[in-house]
Amino acid sequence: MDITIKNLTHLYHPNTPFERIALRDINLQIKSGSFVSVIGHTGSGKSTLVQHINGLLKPSRGEITVGDVTIKAREKAPRLKDLRKRVGLVFQYPEHQLFEETVEKDLCFGPMNFGLPLEEAKAKAHQALKLVGLPQDFLQRSPFDLSGGQMRRVAIAGVLAVEPEVIILDEPTAGLDPMGRRDILSLFERLHEEKAVTTIMVTHSMDDAAYYSDKVLVMDRGQVVMMDKPEHVFSDSKQLKQLGLDIPVTMNFLAKLNKKVHGQSVR
Ligand code: ADP
Repeated sequence: MDITIKNLTHLYHPNTPFERIALRDINLQIKSGSFVSVIGHTGSGKSTLVQHINGLLKPSRGEITVGDVTIKAREKAPRLKDLRKRVGLVFQYPEHQLFEETVEKDLCFGPMNFGLPLEEAKAKAHQALKLVGLPQDFLQRSPFDLSGGQMRRVAIAGVLAVEPEVIILDEPTAGLDPMGRRDILSLFERLHEEKAVTTIMVTHSMDDAAYYSDKVLVMDRGQVVMMDKPEHVFSDSKQLKQLGLDIPVTMNFLAKLNKKVHGQSVR
């Protein structure tokens, strides 16, 4: 599913004293099957942008097309439920949204909400748990008895159980230790590679943006300043510096970029 955004502007609290412009006239295209990282300062509009992709927010002006669904400003959004099934959103701290008494019930919630009968929902739940690398005997456990990292995986499995074609990750590794971070990111890398899931990841880590993405989208004050391959974005360090975005020029980072530039697999 390609994603096309045309002249997208978003205002919070329009026509009130609290009106705030969060996105200004954004135009961009994301190709089906690509991995895009979104970087930029806090408040630059990253979350607002990605929440338009599954219809959680609506454009104030302009439009967004995801596959065959177009959402336009000032028109009733069509087929929102369909869109939400096809575009999964993983927020920061997704484990805060766990609520059922067993992992299995939690994982069945999405598939059943989208109309699958219980037995089929259970099959999706079991598959999703496997995808996130947790054993099947977790199904009958309470999500609240698990470790933080395990809870995060269960919450992610809940999104995967619906089998979305596009996954949006809004800082999915917030609060995890380096091992936990690597595990979660390699899970999404695998999904992207093996199932061609279009992946859009908001991140503060330039390393992760350089390593995982086909394209890096740089945002500043509600606008897109660059959208290009990581090797191009990070080679223009002057512009990034002007934006005040720190680039951790570690050997690791340089080696990865170098390999990307020379077309070798970095994985
Ligand atoms: P980022 O994800 O890059 O940190 P956001 O999309 O969260 O940026 O925010 C973009 C702008 O919109 C900021 O100025 C922020 O203060 C404002 N904003 C975000 N959410 C709300 C909200 N619910 N109400 C009012 N303003 C908001």
